Amino acid sequence: MTFSTAQLDELLKRHFGYDAFRPLQRDIIEALLDRRDVLAILPTGAGKSLCYQLPSLAADGLTLVVSPLIALMKDQVDQLQAVGISATFLNSTLDGMEARRRMDGLREGKYDLLYVAPERVMTPDFAPSLGEWNVTTLAVDEAHCISEWGHDFRPEYRRLRELREWLPEAPVIALTATATPRVREDIALQLGLREPAKFLASFNRPNLNYLVEPKQRAGKQAVDFIRKRPQASGIVYCQSRKRTESIAAELRQAGISAICYHAGMDGEDRARAQEAFLRDEVRVVCATIAFGMGINKPDVRFVIHADLPKNVEGYYQETGRSGRDGLPADCLLLYSRGDVTKYLRFLDENPDQAAREIARRQLDQMADFAESTDCRRRGLLGYFGEKWTKDNCGGCDNCLQPRETWDATTEAQKLMSCAIRVRQASGYDFGLSHLANVLIGSKNEKLLRTGHDRLSTYGIGKEHSAAQWMEIGRQLQRLGLLTAATGDRPTVAVTADGMETLKSRATVTLSRLMAAAKKPAATRAGDIPCDEGLFEKLRALRKQLADEAGVPPYVVFTDVTLRHIARSYPLDHRAMAAIPGVGERKLADYGGLFIAAVSGWLDGGNEKQEFPPLDLPAPAPRVPAKPAGANGTAAITCEMFEAGKSPAEIAAERGLVVSTIENHIAQAVEAGRGYDPRRFYTEAEESQMRAAFNGYDDVALKPVFDHLEGRISYGKLRIFRAFHDRAATSGHTGS
Ligand code: ADP
Ligand code: ZN
Repeated sequence: MTFSTAQLDELLKRHFGYDAFRPLQRDIIEALLDRRDVLAILPTGAGKSLCYQLPSLAADGLTLVVSPLIALMKDQVDQLQAVGISATFLNSTLDGMEARRRMDGLREGKYDLLYVAPERVMTPDFAPSLGEWNVTTLAVDEAHCISEWGHDFRPEYRRLRELREWLPEAPVIALTATATPRVREDIALQLGLREPAKFLASFNRPNLNYLVEPKQRAGKQAVDFIRKRPQASGIVYCQSRKRTESIAAELRQAGISAICYHAGMDGEDRARAQEAFLRDEVRVVCATIAFGMGINKPDVRFVIHADLPKNVEGYYQETGRSGRDGLPADCLLLYSRGDVTKYLRFLDENPDQAAREIARRQLDQMADFAESTDCRRRGLLGYFGEKWTKDNCGGCDNCLQPRETWDATTEAQKLMSCAIRVRQASGYDFGLSHLANVLIGSKNEKLLRTGHDRLSTYGIGKEHSAAQWMEIGRQLQRLGLLTAATGDRPTVAVTADGMETLKSRATVTLSRLMAAAKKPAATRAGDIPCDEGLFEKLRALRKQLADEAGVPPYVVFTDVTLRHIARSYPLDHRAMAAIPGVGERKLADYGGLFIAAVSGWLDGGNEKQEFPPLDLPAPAPRVPAKPAGANGTAAITCEMFEAGKSPAEIAAERGLVVSTIENHIAQAVEAGRGYDPRRFYTEAEESQMRAAFNGYDDVALKPVFDHLEGRISYGKLRIFRAFHDRAATSGHTGS
């Protein structure tokens, strides 16, 4: 069965109300309609669900969707029904009669999609029913759950392979947002995918803003941050249950509606918390990482990390839960060196040395990310082996507020001497803020009480404010010249390195924000400027309709759709049908009400506002892994390579950099080209890489590159990984 481009476009518009596919969506859909197995690795918010939902409309029969979260199934089905797609779910929340009714419907071929949990699929009565339902496609959502290497391993997923025996004809599409190569490999292997068409999108999330602030008082910092975003929903991630509770309490005290979510709560309480968040009844969830996968609320506008995540992968996944709808979202990490010290102490208690080593390395990478003055996006994507080449990403603190280095030798001497004097005078150490107060010559009560106003360092630092001294102190801690403060009463002392620096009068270089760096806020990636007053009004209408229908607000319309309405003021059905996210069904169900709201707004004396046309984000760049032959420029490279030219020669001839050529080749290898590895690297290099990748199985190229101390280029590593990938996949699929 083949479908024309126009037919797919038509289905996209009619049901989902969108005019264009997102990057890779069309390719994935076409591969699936070609009845190929598909492995789709796309970041959160890329629009994965549509990749199996739309084909289910185009093709005959039933698409069976395996999804790990019972709590979400109803939501997903509600969303589909709201766009006129006939879908249902079977799980333990249904009573026997309802389940039977749905089974009957399945036999009658009433549905295009059926959602089930994996444990259900493997029950003895389920598999035989499959034969009566005409299942033509199997979709495995959150496919990383099948891998023990991932963070959400579900043993039940392992048995999905047996499903294939019942459905030998049905192509399988596995979808995940996992960014780790090892897990990706494992998915293909464990599911027994047959020569899958692999699709790998860039993991950049252009609409997310990454910010890191020194942690002082996390609760207060969270309050300040959230107050600046008065309508927005968000998540505050904390390391412990106790802390979720204390921060939630602090937020509530500041008048911000907040609840907790952690594994210590019983299932019912957790479900209630999640529900309240999804339905916009509470604005903020203070959660441990137990609050994770399956938060498909599209309009999470911020994620705050009140404590340091244990690894970069976790940080990426957690921040990734914001901004699924593509509108701008902010990710704030509150960082203190003290968190690192605390985890290290905790790690020391782990008797398993190998595990300890891995955890320590991951923690180091996380701390590097937080302390870096380089673009955060580059750091994050580099961790996953992806290159970010733009100078200024426009969406991280280091790019928006560049820093400069300065000679802080005198300041370092003053601050360290002050710490030494204070200790000599009192016999114990004090915190940074106290030292700052001594330096600026403060007259606060503690100072007078301790007699530190009589020290020789009292008032010798009036050229800076107390806040500046604290920042200097934190940087000295990072450099290891002062001890990192931990605990409730964080005190600092000069380290041995600090003593040495003082004695030798060594130069100390620190960094600071550039004075003139406050750029006017440029339009942010993903932003849809609109009439904010009307938007609020539409939100209120949406909430009311959602409550009446018993669904979360985004099932009615997403914020994206509301913002489009609030900038183009549609006053008739035709104008409304042109709004993204308004398909036929939603137009019929809600179009009139929203048109009335717009005309009521204008009749109420509000002027129409003008907005510049939207700068639609360029499609995400495609990284490797398209099926062979699909990419013209890569094909040219391969031809030249097959004609005997080396990557360097090809690069010179084509006027491209070698790494691009190597990327093309890696891509071809992944797609199954049989090249000789010896044309890329020696046996010795190969064994070095093998060893290095083994140590770093769970991470990407950068750590391996660093581990090899840059001896082996990224290009070679990438090609090695491609060979390795293929060996892992094809070795077990019997293809
Ligand atoms: P993922 O599962 O990859 O995290 P979703 O399937 O939840 O992403 O989709 C994220 C959002 O993007 C949803 O609100 C969805 O309706 C929207 N979306 C999906 N495809 C398109 C498209 N082609 N055009 C516009 N919006 C889309
Ligand atoms: Zn940046």
